[in-house]
Amino acid sequence: MTTAYSPRSWPGVIEAYKQFLPVTDATPRITLLEGATPLIPSVAIGPSLPGKIRLFFKHEGCNPTGSFKDRGMTMAVSKAVEEGARLTMCASTGNTSAAAAAYSTRAGIPAVVLIPDGYIALGKLAQALMCGARTIQIAGNFDDCLRIVREITDNYPIALVNSLNPYRMEGQKTAAFEVCDVLGAAPDFHALPVGNSGNITAYWWGYKEYHEKGITAGCPRMLGFQAAGAAPMVLGHPVPQPETVATAIRIGNPARWRDAARAVEESGGLIDMVTDEEILAAYKELGDREGIFVEPASAAGVAGVKKLAARGFFGDDEVTVVCTLTGHGLKDPDTAISLAVEPEKAPADTQAVVKMLGLAD
Ligand SMILES: *Cc1c(COP(=O)(O)O)cnc(C)c1O
Repeated sequence: MTTAYSPRSWPGVIEAYKQFLPVTDATPRITLLEGATPLIPSVAIGPSLPGKIRLFFKHEGCNPTGSFKDRGMTMAVSKAVEEGARLTMCASTGNTSAAAAAYSTRAGIPAVVLIPDGYIALGKLAQALMCGARTIQIAGNFDDCLRIVREITDNYPIALVNSLNPYRMEGQKTAAFEVCDVLGAAPDFHALPVGNSGNITAYWWGYKEYHEKGITAGCPRMLGFQAAGAAPMVLGHPVPQPETVATAIRIGNPARWRDAARAVEESGGLIDMVTDEEILAAYKELGDREGIFVEPASAAGVAGVKKLAARGFFGDDEVTVVCTLTGHGLKDPDTAISLAVEPEKAPADTQAVVKMLGLAD
């Protein structure tokens, strides 16, 4: 042994947290060793906020397909295989389809992914196609895709792996366990983006379960952030035409609305909204001040914490705040390139580059 740490001992979230999950020894572990994602201390954004905020980033972009959806998908596909499904199906514009494709392939069963007409983030489409999902583009929107998937899975022996699948929530709550296991306690606040509202609900269930089992002494207050153009829970009514640059949270009528509202209420937290400008500012800041590249939706929680801190929400005492960064920046290279400055140009000449850098006159 040259180090006390073993890079190979992590077995994936099902095996690691099996006593908290609806599995038995007979449940197959369909896993890509997801989970155990880093809890990264902020070096720039946190220290620059007013108050005494210990800020951490739970970087879910480090999962095998680059988003937190892997935690839910390992459970959904493992249970589908246990129950004898021979095909999985989902409607998705993004990360769910990438995860469904990868985990179904891992299980040796085909995945069918229905995607809507129109813009799909390039990285996510590439993942579904490369991981062997049968990808069908429907001449309609996301709601049409979901309706078709539901009608088919209701009538044929096919596992629906959209967020309506209850096992996905079980898998996703493991992220809250990991945060507590690393910090040695629950944080004071947990902030994250809210789209279909499954993830905020799953985190809350995880934190509550650890507390009820006596593993932690308390629970965090849950802070959920929607995009201003897709903020049904803030406005109090569905949004028929949601619009935001943060495509992963462009949802007008969240499936887990009630559960998420209860999570926020029980925890003493809040749901607020942030504008696309605030989201993109946090997106850029994560990259150029923290060295962490996420997809735009993932920055919504950070944008929200900055907004709350600016109005003194966190008070003067030291508080621990965790922001979930939900997905990796490489998912959506087009948005990154559209905001970035162009590369500088130089001749293939050392002296020219030396001069450009101001190292010599
Ligand atoms: C799915 C997703 C979300 C939204 O999570 P919900 O559970 O739908 O609220 C946010 N960010 C990314 C990157 C996602 O893939």
